Amino acid sequence: MPPAAALATTDVKPWTPRRLLVTRSSLGWEHGRAIVARATALGVEIIEQGNDRLAFAWPDDPRRRYAEAKRTLALVVAPPSKRRLQPIAPSADWRVDLAEGCPAHCSYCYLAGSLTGPPVTRVYANLPEILDELPRHLGQGRVTSRSRARAGEGTTYEASCYTDPLALEHLTGSLTALIDYVGAWEADAQLRFTTKFAAVAPLLELAHGGKTRMRASVNPARFARFEGGTSPVAARLRTLGQVARAGYKVGLTIAPIIAAEGWEQAYAGLLADAAAALAGVDGLDLTVELITHRFTPGSKAVLDSWYPGSALEMDPTARVEKRTKFRGVKHVYPAETMTALRRFFEREIAATLPAARILYWT
Ligand code: SF4
Repeated sequence: MPPAAALATTDVKPWTPRRLLVTRSSLGWEHGRAIVARATALGVEIIEQGNDRLAFAWPDDPRRRYAEAKRTLALVVAPPSKRRLQPIAPSADWRVDLAEGCPAHCSYCYLAGSLTGPPVTRVYANLPEILDELPRHLGQGRVTSRSRARAGEGTTYEASCYTDPLALEHLTGSLTALIDYVGAWEADAQLRFTTKFAAVAPLLELAHGGKTRMRASVNPARFARFEGGTSPVAARLRTLGQVARAGYKVGLTIAPIIAAEGWEQAYAGLLADAAAALAGVDGLDLTVELITHRFTPGSKAVLDSWYPGSALEMDPTARVEKRTKFRGVKHVYPAETMTALRRFFEREIAATLPAARILYWT
């Protein structure tokens, strides 16, 4: 008999890629070979590349190319440039990547402007080398460690910048290894990840030592049509409660906040549902991160090609321009809308989730 916690989380079907492209070097790593074994057991077609390039005959038609790439997982070795940790404001001191890409289909996906080429999800075989980077950066944080309000978190490492690690966990086991690593590490450090998935069963029994914060990335169910391939929001909240009861620190990443008609009622309902899911958790340590919807000209072009006809508003004339730190442009809600949103969330969170700390608003 599986444990009750596992039964409660199996209603979310894990992603099964159509194929796994395997680079030669990745097979030199035990973790890489374990990923191949997991994929084989799930009936995934294994395509060994014979070298370290990812070669596949992608369809010429852009829609079909997108669809085939999204059905493809690639097993690669992360080069030093991808293993080098980078500051990742405002979330964490350092970004640690276990993978790059995501199998879901969100109309607003923030990866659209960041990654190039067909959206294949790449998972990394050389996990020991990735873990080796963490101690080198201990005590050198420049984001949360420099914040008076957040320095108590220790050196923070964020694992969900370029992927949704829980979406891939049944195929990789990488997140489990990272949680175990940080849990056993006698250091003032904290692992963070956020997810739109609900398959938390493998995490519930881990010796995490209270040093991992899992956040559920959520939006009201009425926006579910913008989040294809993810777990239902109700399941994400329910499993967040399970994780909190297993002693993890938890959080809500409310992102992206969408100021569509009826947003006040929709987000009030979401916060009430979150409060119900977390009710009665002993020692609840809850944070909230608030990220409004934005896009860049580059991400809009990619998303328009991936999701033509999406009802998500991405009209630059309805937004104001803001400069990014790399002197690019992003389109954000006008100041009046931002103020209304921010006041609403600060008020509602204080009333509905009084134990929560808001980490940042952007
Ligand atoms: Fe992008 Fe996150 Fe959606 Fe994946 S779950 S498609 S990373 S927004």
